[in-house]
Amino acid sequence: MTTAITLVQGDITRQRVDAIVNAANSSLLGGSGVDGAIHRRGGPAILRECRALRASRYGRGLPTGRAVATTAGELDARWVIHTVGPVWSADEDRSELLASCHRESLRIADELGARTVAFPAISTGVYRWPLQDAARIAVTAVRESGTRVEEVRFVLFDERAYAAFAARLG
Ligand code: ADP
Repeated sequence: MTTAITLVQGDITRQRVDAIVNAANSSLLGGSGVDGAIHRRGGPAILRECRALRASRYGRGLPTGRAVATTAGELDARWVIHTVGPVWSADEDRSELLASCHRESLRIADELGARTVAFPAISTGVYRWPLQDAARIAVTAVRESGTRVEEVRFVLFDERAYAAFAARLG
């Protein structure tokens, strides 16, 4: 089965999908950007599950490139899949970790039986990854993932991010 990759410009917290991917940080306890927006709109149930994960499986935090699911609280989705993108580095190639975020999120989505998944442009905000390069890595990772997800929807916050992903999809 082929996965449809779609693009929308907008706010990821307004999407109706089975799973929303969060560009989290390894603390899992909230942050700025997408992370802040998800916790604000999703309500306290998400943070409660994140705290429980910190108290059990992820005592030292979620490692970069990995993913874990929680409830989506009051969002119009069943799950939030939290993944930790790498911080951009000019001296070190961390592309494999960014690809891993997409692969691992889709592996979790497959385990959950999610058919539609919304992704933000992971690492392109506070973590400063150049948009064109992030779009290339994200789209390639999804295409090569072998996921059973039917629709992967990249939700890009502004026109510049949308254009970078649109150019990559061709
Ligand atoms: P990171 O720390 O992984 O860089 P950020 O949340 O800072 O994560 O940013 C990731 C991308 O998400 C950026 O391109 C940013 O503009 C975008 N973004 C911020 N808020 C939202 C939102 N509510 N919906 C979709 N994208 C968003």
